[in-house]
Amino acid sequence: MCPPFDPSAPVLVTGGAGFIGSHLCDALVQAGHRVHGLDDLSTGSEGNIAHLKDEGRFRFVQGDIRSMDDVRAAMAGVGTVLHLAALGSVPRSIADPAATHAVNLTGFLHVLEAARQAGVRRFVYASSSSVYGDSAELPKREDRTGRPLSPYAVTKAANEAYAGVYHRLHGMHIIGLRFFNVFGERQDPEGPYAAAIPRFIRSLLRHEPPTIHGDGLQSRDFTYVGNAVQAVLAAMRNDDPACAGQVFNVACGERTTERHLVELLRTELARIDPAVAQVGVVHVEGRQGDVRDSLADVAKARDMLGFTATTGLHDGLQRAVPWYARHWT
Ligand code: NAD
Repeated sequence: MCPPFDPSAPVLVTGGAGFIGSHLCDALVQAGHRVHGLDDLSTGSEGNIAHLKDEGRFRFVQGDIRSMDDVRAAMAGVGTVLHLAALGSVPRSIADPAATHAVNLTGFLHVLEAARQAGVRRFVYASSSSVYGDSAELPKREDRTGRPLSPYAVTKAANEAYAGVYHRLHGMHIIGLRFFNVFGERQDPEGPYAAAIPRFIRSLLRHEPPTIHGDGLQSRDFTYVGNAVQAVLAAMRNDDPACAGQVFNVACGERTTERHLVELLRTELARIDPAVAQVGVVHVEGRQGDVRDSLADVAKARDMLGFTATTGLHDGLQRAVPWYARHWT
C-alpha cells in the first residue's frame, strides 16, 4: 500500500521547463506545494518558468535525465515524482531514434529507478496516444492498443511496460497518463518538430498558408493543456490501489479533422487580424508514422481517477490564440 499523499513533501516535475511541465509547476505552486523542476532546457525554455524564479516554493534544477547522477541529485527529499521529460515528436524519433530512445526510455528508467532507490512510492508519468499505433478501433480504449508506428511510440509503450513491472515488483503507486494532442499557451511553434496547432497559428499570423500533411481529414482528440494539468493533479493525489500500475487516456473524447481545426483557428485569429480570413492552406504528402484518426474513450479516467476534461477545443483555442498573437507577431 502506498502511504497517503503528503502535500508537504516536495514534488519533482521532470520536464518542468517544458510546455505541459511549466503549466503543471504553476498549478502546483498555486496549490501551495513545494516544487523541484528538473529540465535540461533542450526543448523547454527558461522563459516558460521565469515568472516562478522569485517564488520561494519553486526550485529549478538544470540536469539531464540521461545522467543517473543528475536524476539522483534532483530526487533528494522528494515525496512524489511527476515525470514529463521526454523528446516529443514522431518525425524526430524517425529521424533520430537513438536520441529519442536515450531520453524517453533510458532516461525514463533512470527516473523510475532513482525514485525506487530514494523510497519515493508515488510516481505519475506522461505516456501518449501514440501507443494505439495501427489499431483502427475508435474510440481508443486503454486495454486495446495496436502495433507502434514510430520509435517515439515504442518508447512510450516501453515506459508503460516498465511502470507495470515496477508496480508489480516494488509496489510503487505508479500511474501513466496517455495524453492526446495537448495544445495551449507556451507550446513551441518553431522548428521542424512543432505540433500542428502552434504551427498553424504561427503561419496564419504571418499570412502564410499552413501546411497540412495529407488530405486534412485525419482527426485528433485535441486536449487543452489545463485539462492535462488537472489529470496529473488527480493522478498525483490518487490513493486508490486499483489505480496503481494503470494507464488512463487524457482527452476530451471529441475528434476534429485538421481541416476543421484550421477553419476554427482562422475564425479565432480573424478577430485579432481580419486579413487572416483570406489565408488558404497548402497540402503536402502525408507523414510516415502518423496515425490516421484519434479519439479517446474517456470513461476509465472519469470512473477511476475522477478526471473529466472541463475545457473543450473551442474554449481552449480562445485562451491560446491571444497568447500566440501577443508572443509571435
Ligand atoms: P516539451 O518538449 O515542451 O517538454 C518536455 C521537456 O522535457 C522539455 O522542457 C525538455 O527540455 C525536457 N527534456 C528533454 N530531454 C531532457 C533530458 N534529457 N533531461 C531533462 N529534461 C529533458 O513537451 P510537452 O508537450 O510538454 O510534453 C511533456 C510530456 O508529455 C512528454 O513526455 C511528451 O512525450 C508527453 N506528451 C505530450 C503530448 C503533447 O501533445 N504535447 C502528447 C502526448 C504525450
